[in-house]
Amino acid sequence: MSSENFTKEQSLDPDDWQLMRALGQRMVDDMLTYLETVRDRHVWQPIPREVKEYFNQPLPMEAQGPERTYRDFLEYVLPHPMGNIHPRFWGWVIGTGTPLGMLADMLAAGMNPNVGGADHIANYVESQVLNWCKEMLAYPAEASGLLVSGGSMANLIGLTVARNTKAEFDLRQQGIYASSRKMTLYGSKETHSSVQKAVELLGLGSNAFRQISVNKDFQIDLFELETAIARDRETDCQPFCVVGNAGTVNTGAIDDLEALAQICDRENLWFHVDGAFGALAGLSPKLRPLVGGMEKADSLAFDLHKWMYMPYEVGCALVQNEEAHRKAFALTPDYLTHSDRGLAGGKIWFSDYGVQLSRGFRALKVWMSLKEHGVQKYGKVIKQNVDQAQYLAKLVEDSADLQLLAPVPLNIVCFRFIADQHDNKTLNELNKELLIQLHESGVAAPSYTLINGRYALRVAITNHRSRREDFEVLVDEVVRLGNKLKGTKTQRV
Ligand SMILES: *Cc1c(COP(=O)(O)O)cnc(C)c1O
Repeated sequence: MSSENFTKEQSLDPDDWQLMRALGQRMVDDMLTYLETVRDRHVWQPIPREVKEYFNQPLPMEAQGPERTYRDFLEYVLPHPMGNIHPRFWGWVIGTGTPLGMLADMLAAGMNPNVGGADHIANYVESQVLNWCKEMLAYPAEASGLLVSGGSMANLIGLTVARNTKAEFDLRQQGIYASSRKMTLYGSKETHSSVQKAVELLGLGSNAFRQISVNKDFQIDLFELETAIARDRETDCQPFCVVGNAGTVNTGAIDDLEALAQICDRENLWFHVDGAFGALAGLSPKLRPLVGGMEKADSLAFDLHKWMYMPYEVGCALVQNEEAHRKAFALTPDYLTHSDRGLAGGKIWFSDYGVQLSRGFRALKVWMSLKEHGVQKYGKVIKQNVDQAQYLAKLVEDSADLQLLAPVPLNIVCFRFIADQHDNKTLNELNKELLIQLHESGVAAPSYTLINGRYALRVAITNHRSRREDFEVLVDEVVRLGNKLKGTKTQRV
């Protein structure tokens, strides 16, 4: 072989670093301006058909270079966002992100470590972040943890450890088939769908998840829970876990976590808390009592990309019993053996605590954001969102045109436009159309849910950019659209 074959290796690095530097600086500049001016734009707008069609273009075989590629981004991607970074976005439970969070993700991608293991600094950053998370939520310091993609994965981690720990046999080796009794778990009807998904993935079947009724405040009915556990014990079932909610997705309800902890203790059940956003109420000294008892959970799931306003994706799973956590996931073939020294040394191998082997450097944005603002500031902004929810609830109650549909214990407000003489079905249709028109107007973006069969406009505030006047704008626009729609309905009759 001639040596000529080796003279022209190619790489994916730029031919011209100077050009790439200038382009990168422009990108940072453009995005900071984009964030600075977000309030001046519509929350959301429908994507034009031509733009959607652009994404049917064939696979690029030839290079078009970085600059034209960035132009395509500016033309076809950036102008059509979801809207969740806007101050008047309150749909589902969606976070807003921050400028430093964005830059931290860029730095993390630049370093591009694999945080599955080995002895390098990203593992220490994540370790520290997990320690800080435990401290800020008053969770036991000896607990283990893992940053994950979000609440869904954090619930899956917690419930996997619960299942494996409570099984009366080696579940990893023998599988759920070896179970002589049906393993059952319990949570309220308001429990998030990700819990059911986890139960299904764990091979338990969704029937194994006993959905318990709620009281008028949408909290789990403790009497019905205890009755269901007792009834299952009398049959061929093995109750093994209770899922408590710290902030339900529909109304922000928080179960009586202290009572659930006691029941689990007495009944020898695993206590898992889904605190996707609600757990973060613990950062505000005034709100902290609302989530009292969550620190007693055997496993706790929460998100940092929702009520900590960090860029997607980042959630966290904490498990009190480090050994149980490790035993559920650790698997070390020869090619992953940890050594005492060298690159393959180090004590922290996060791949032993979850599903992923290769893992990104999510921890950096958390680490930098916590340093940038300090935890107290997060507590204040979280409290501010709760106060805004109270303010909106009051605006709704003060308006003869609007009706509050559920209590507002946290940061979620469910309400609807009402027109006196209309029945529920008509009101549901009217509010459904109203919400679509509100979205299309680009003024504000709540989402919706059903509360006792009533179609509700649902405002979930995990937005550090919202101001009081934004809720006044929302109420004015809902009333205006509602009256307009009511008018068209009447005309048609
Ligand atoms: C959002 C949410 C989840 C799922 O979290 P993801 O980050 O979307 O995976 C689970 N539980 C509750 C209560 C939620 O609000």
